[in-house]
Amino acid sequence: MPYPTNLLDLSLSDASRVLHAFFAERGEPAYRARQVVRRLWQAPVRSFDEITELPAALRVALGGHFALPRLELVERQRSADRTQKFLFRLADGQGIETVAIPDDDRVTLCISSQAGCALQCAFCATGRMGFQRNLAAWEIAAQVREMRMVDDPVRVTNVVFMGMGEPLMNWSAVDAALTLLNAPEALGIGARHITVSTVGVLPGIVALAKRPEQFRLALSIHAPSDALRRQLMPINVKYPLADVLGAARAFDRRVTFEYVMLGGVNDTASHALELARLAKSCRAFVNLIPLHEGGATEFRATPPRDIARFARVVRGTGVEVAIRKSRGTDIAAACGQLRVERLGRGAPRRAHEHGHVDVV
Ligand code: SAH
Repeated sequence: MPYPTNLLDLSLSDASRVLHAFFAERGEPAYRARQVVRRLWQAPVRSFDEITELPAALRVALGGHFALPRLELVERQRSADRTQKFLFRLADGQGIETVAIPDDDRVTLCISSQAGCALQCAFCATGRMGFQRNLAAWEIAAQVREMRMVDDPVRVTNVVFMGMGEPLMNWSAVDAALTLLNAPEALGIGARHITVSTVGVLPGIVALAKRPEQFRLALSIHAPSDALRRQLMPINVKYPLADVLGAARAFDRRVTFEYVMLGGVNDTASHALELARLAKSCRAFVNLIPLHEGGATEFRATPPRDIARFARVVRGTGVEVAIRKSRGTDIAAACGQLRVERLGRGAPRRAHEHGHVDVV
């Protein structure tokens, strides 16, 4: 018997085509294919057997030809602030994290695009486990799909690529995943509600800008000078600030700067003024992120009062700024933390080409 085709690993149009062929061969009407397509993403099922609108014999036949894989839920943690963290195991044993963050009437799902990460940002737990592998498009989109199938399902309204990995170093999969996330007949999340966060991988930004949908771009800036940014983010050697800012200006939609507040490192008033100047030059919105200390033992968080003061300096220059709430600190919700705690670091493939980080 041929290896079953994973229907989730196909674009919607390819899935539709193979299903039409499958039902046509059996003398079944075309609407059968549409019934199954709907069950891939839009109203997902755990197995073909749950597609009760199909006769039982067809469900069995589907199962003989196609696969509908799940992400295996290893652990689900709930924070006192209602943030939930999911640890999924992939077929090859890799672990990835997904975090659901409720806020008023929204639920933002923070998804992973790679198992591990090659970039080694000094304050990030994912970086410490090294790069393991890229996720396939379906593994990225399936993190949202699973939310519709778990007990006590999560109603995802927004998606951010701020889990494990650098999405723009896995562009072909992220590109296809964006389509699955956004297409009304797949997961149906509005493009303006989907944010790709990057350290500034230029070819990826150009590719994202070419997409006609209004996907949002967030840039992890974290330091207003190359000297400091290089210490925190080795990738700055390859993509220095000037290049990242140039890409931000060329992006035809408003971008967000992410700036993690590191006590005594990047949080003085002069850093705030420099950051504001850069943000202004790109008409960017600034998000100040309190450090999750669990991800970064060498750093301490800037105290909330000082974050507020930093924000006032930025705002004083006319730049829009928000302070992100730190969420899920009681459940190891910082990027990469849960996997490191539960599954160990794996055998990291260190990205020597990016150089080493000297932590101040
Ligand atoms: N690689 C992408 C997306 C994943 S990280 C990027 O860097 O943008 C998502 C965001 O979480 C980034 O802004 C990252 O710098 C930040 N982050 C990583 N570790 C953190 C920590 N310990 N505390 C707070 N934010 C952190």
